[in-house]
Amino acid sequence: MATVDLPLLPLGRGTDLNSERGVECPGDLPPASDPALVARARAAKDALGEKVFVLGHHYQRDEVIQFADVTGDSFKLAREAAARPDAEYIVFCGVHFMAESADILTGPDQQVVLPDLAAGCSMADMARLTQVEMAWDALVKAGIGDSVVPVTYMNSSADIKAFCGRNGGLVCTSSNADVALQWAVEQKPDAKILFFPDQHLGRNTGVLKMGYSVDDCVVWDPHRPNGGLTTEQLRDARMILWRGHCSVHGRFSPEAVDDLRAEIPDITILVHPECRHEVVLKADLVGSTEFIIQTIEAAPAGSSWAIGTELNLVKRLADAHPDKRIVFLDKAVCFCSTMNRIDLPHLVWTLESLVAGTVVNRIEVDAETEKWALVALERMLALPGRTAKD
Ligand code: SF4
Repeated sequence: MATVDLPLLPLGRGTDLNSERGVECPGDLPPASDPALVARARAAKDALGEKVFVLGHHYQRDEVIQFADVTGDSFKLAREAAARPDAEYIVFCGVHFMAESADILTGPDQQVVLPDLAAGCSMADMARLTQVEMAWDALVKAGIGDSVVPVTYMNSSADIKAFCGRNGGLVCTSSNADVALQWAVEQKPDAKILFFPDQHLGRNTGVLKMGYSVDDCVVWDPHRPNGGLTTEQLRDARMILWRGHCSVHGRFSPEAVDDLRAEIPDITILVHPECRHEVVLKADLVGSTEFIIQTIEAAPAGSSWAIGTELNLVKRLADAHPDKRIVFLDKAVCFCSTMNRIDLPHLVWTLESLVAGTVVNRIEVDAETEKWALVALERMLALPGRTAKD
């Protein structure tokens, strides 16, 4: 029987975990109180010139975002990196799975660097390859192996993407999940979708876009024998959802929606599809990070919005649109703690190390994993009718 490794590992993968625990860095981080940090980051970036390209995810802190050459969601950033073949170093201010995707999509001579290896994603870490392989074996034993098509959210590790590539599946983002699911069900007669790691994106897409009932979607719990499901439940299901979630988006509550509607009657509730199904059902609009940004940009002055996504982005949108009333959906939800590990001291340390000729915290996906992950990513890129965005 295969061994199940750590179920939740919000740390970098494939490297020495002992050296990555906490916020320890192998190098000499400048103190956060150093008033020269901004000037040091600017000087190092200038010294590197075209050799470096800094990517900033929308959920990053302002102190880091100010140094980004481009901002975006995870998929847009990976493609931006691929479109800069002359940049020797890609400094990815985001989390580990994003840097892996950038490494997969960039050339062999480009080196992708994550300023803090402890910037992982708790959702991505909820689906580990050994667990997924055990689930796959169980589905084969239940007699449904031939009808299952695996689909993974972009927010997953490279080895899970590779698993999907090897087994006839693909990757999706939060803006093309419906097209990806449609592709999946067309691959086999009586196809069932195995969706990971985010049960909420899977359920919201299956129910709201594919016309499945909530009961058509069962949840596979990797910590219970046979996923906590009977063979009959597996055979009857249209979607098998991995029991994973985003620790930020999963905390928004339907009660917060009710409270805000009572407080601000003309408010529009705009949420990300990683939110729970009961929250999405109560919202007015649901869509990806890019959809949220575009919706707010297009909104009329004087309109009121409550946004259910990561706090750094909501705060930045509120600052950029003072003519609109923009509030955070839930007072109990905070920043993405792993995203926020990338701070100015780590960025300065990374850039100054590159100036000195030392590549720190390189993220490198092995060739076999890269080959199959690319198969799953290319199937997504070939989907009809959509520009892929996270
Ligand atoms: S916001 Fe959620 S999905 Fe995104 S990196 Fe943080 S934990 Fe992962």
